[in-house]
Amino acid sequence: MWLMINVNGYTFASGKEKFEAALIDGNRIAAVGSKDELMLQYGTQAETVNLDGATVIPGLVDSHAHLAETGKQFMQLNLSSVRSKAELLNLIRTHAATLPSAAWVIGGGWDENRFVDRGLPTLEQLDEAAGGRPLLLKRICHHAYMANTQALSRAGLSLYPADPNDGRYGRDESGRFNGVVYENASIPIQNAVPSWSPAQWKDALRIAMNQALASGLTSVHSDDTRSFGNFSDTWHAYRSLMDTEGLRLGIHELVDWSLLDEAISAGPDLPQEDDWLELGAAKLFADGAFGGRTALLQEPYTDSPDWYGTAMYDDEELYRRVRYAHERGVPAAIHAIGDAALDMALTAIERAPRIKRRDRIVHAQMIRPDLVQRMRSLGSQLALDIQPRFVCSDFPWVVERVGSARAKSVCAWRTMQDAGLHLCGGSDSPIEPLQPLFGIHAAVTRRDAYASDGGYAMEQAYSPEEAIHLFSHGAVFATGKEQVKGTIAPGKLADFTVLDRDIVHPADVNDIRDAQVLHTIVGGEFAYSRNRHENQWSTA
Ligand SMILES: [Zn+2]
Ligand SMILES: [Zn+2]
Repeated sequence: MWLMINVNGYTFASGKEKFEAALIDGNRIAAVGSKDELMLQYGTQAETVNLDGATVIPGLVDSHAHLAETGKQFMQLNLSSVRSKAELLNLIRTHAATLPSAAWVIGGGWDENRFVDRGLPTLEQLDEAAGGRPLLLKRICHHAYMANTQALSRAGLSLYPADPNDGRYGRDESGRFNGVVYENASIPIQNAVPSWSPAQWKDALRIAMNQALASGLTSVHSDDTRSFGNFSDTWHAYRSLMDTEGLRLGIHELVDWSLLDEAISAGPDLPQEDDWLELGAAKLFADGAFGGRTALLQEPYTDSPDWYGTAMYDDEELYRRVRYAHERGVPAAIHAIGDAALDMALTAIERAPRIKRRDRIVHAQMIRPDLVQRMRSLGSQLALDIQPRFVCSDFPWVVERVGSARAKSVCAWRTMQDAGLHLCGGSDSPIEPLQPLFGIHAAVTRRDAYASDGGYAMEQAYSPEEAIHLFSHGAVFATGKEQVKGTIAPGKLADFTVLDRDIVHPADVNDIRDAQVLHTIVGGEFAYSRNRHENQWSTA
C-alpha cells in the first residue's frame, strides 16, 4: 500500500472533482480524498510518496493507434517533418546512402499539402535519389505511395501497369507511371518488399510502448495484426513484452477482420487476456481518406466533380462482415471518413444482430444531420473514435476537396458531443504523433500545435476538461471497461498521468502542449518516470 500526497488531482468522476491524496493498494485505487484525511487514516501503514504539487489526472488512453507501425517508423525513413520537394529528395538520398546497394528504401509520413511547393518528385528524381535501390514511401494518410522504377521492376510490373479495381497508378500524359501509387495498387509492390519477422515487429512494439508511456499514456487501443500478418504472433509479442520484459501498458488489441477466424480458433491456445491485454473489435474499412480523394462522399468532390471516392465494399458485403463478427460476439470497428462511408457503416451496424460489446466508427470525420440522428439512435452501443489532430492536418486544404459548406461538417465534434454521442480520442499514430497532450491541445485549439493563427471552426472546440475526457473515460467507454478504469475512484485500476502543470484549468492554453509528463503510473506501478535515475521524490 502506498499513499500519493500533495497532488493537484482531478478525479473526472462525478461528485468529487478534486483530490489531494490517493491510497493505492496493489493495482487498484483504495481511497481518494484530502491529504489530512488519508494521512490520519493510513499514514502509519502506507508508504507516502510526495508528488510536490504535481497535477494528477486519470491515466490517458489513446483510442486508436498502430503501435507496430509507430515503432517501425522510428526504425525507418521518417518524412513527417518534410516541407519541400528538395528536402524530401535530400532525405531519401541521405538515408539510401546508409543502406546496402540492393536494399529497399522504405519510409513514409510525407504530406505534400505541407510542402511550400506542394509538388511531388518525378519518377526520374526518385530513381536518382534512391541510387538504384527500389523505393516505396507511404503518404501520411496511408492511402497513397511513392515508388520508383526499381520497385516496379521488383514487383514484376512494367512502367505501364494495368490499374486494379481498388486502386490506380499515377501516370504522365503518355500513360507512363509517374511515381505515385494509390490505394491497393500498392499491394504488388508491398508484396515485393521482404517482410519483417515477428521478432522485428516485436522490437517495433517495444519502442512504441515505451514511447506511449513517456507521453503519458497508460493504455492504447492498437491495431497491429495486419503488420504482423497474423493474430497469434501479435498476441504473443505483446504477452512476452508484458510478462517476460515487464512492460506495463494496457493494450486493447483490434483484430483485422480478415484474421478474425484465426484469432477465434487460436483463442484457447493463446496466453489469456488480463487487465493489461484484451482482444478488441474486428477492424474493417468502409473507405479511404480525403487526401487521395478516396474518402467516400454522398455528393461528388468539389475539386473533382465526377468523383465520389472509393468504397472498400458494397453495402451488402460490409453488412455481411459486421454480422459475421457479431455472430461470434465480436464488435466491429469500421474506418469511415466520408459521409457516404459513415452511412454504409451505420447501415451495417443497424442491420446486424445486437451484441453486448460496443461497435465503433473510427474517424467519423464527416457527418450529416440524418447520420447524427442515426448514431444517436444506436445509443451506448456505438462509440465514435475521433482523432482531434486531424483538424490541423486536414484543414485548410479539405475545403478545396469538399467545398466550404460541407467542410463545416468535417471534424464537427461539438455538434456530435452535443447530440449525446459517445466520443473517444485517439492519435491514429503514426499518422499523427503518439502524444495525447497534442491531441487534447488540438481538440481545444483546433490548430496545429505550434501555429500562431486562430483555429478552424472554433464553434466546434472543446474545453480542456472535455478534451481530457475524450482521452480517458471516453476511450475506456468504447471498450466497455468504464467500471474498471477511466476515472480516479476507489476500486478502479490505479492508472494515473502525472504532469508538471495544470492542464485541466491551464493558465495558458499552450500549457497543454508544453506540459511535461513526470510519471506514468499503470496499475499502481511507476511505468515511466521522467528522471528515472534521479531521486524522484522526497518522502514526506
Ligand atoms: Zn483509419
Ligand atoms: Zn488507423
